[in-house]
Amino acid sequence: MDCLFCKIAAGEIPSSKVYEDEVCLAFADIDPQAPTHFLVIPKAHIGSVAEINAENAGLAGHLLQIAAQVAREQGLESYRVVSNTGAQAGQSVPHLHFHVLGGRDMTWPPG
Ligand code: 5GP
Ligand code: ZN
Repeated sequence: MDCLFCKIAAGEIPSSKVYEDEVCLAFADIDPQAPTHFLVIPKAHIGSVAEINAENAGLAGHLLQIAAQVAREQGLESYRVVSNTGAQAGQSVPHLHFHVLGGRDMTWPPG
């Protein structure tokens, strides 16, 4: 499949990895929107949060566990976890990813 994050997961496109295991990868966002901004993705292709189901829910939970672990390792006590789902919500890469953003004040609601 011609998917950018599948290629990053396979190591075909380089990334600044902050965590990797058999099923997931976390790496720095190429266009950071906060002093700390990394993405957590499954290695297997899942299109978005809209494709989380009973079969892959364990993996989705693992991604959040890793988001918390890496945030802790990066010294973040306060951070935002975001997963834009669908074009109207701002999803530009159709492979599930959790953004973890921290290190600055955040506003609510998001734009
Ligand atoms: P989305 O817009 O789907 O919520 O998030 C996609 C994110 O992927 C964006 O924050 C964008 O900066 C990041 N991104 C796009 N292409 C690359 C890339 O080649 N490498 C890395 N590390 N991040 C990327
Ligand atoms: Zn993919």
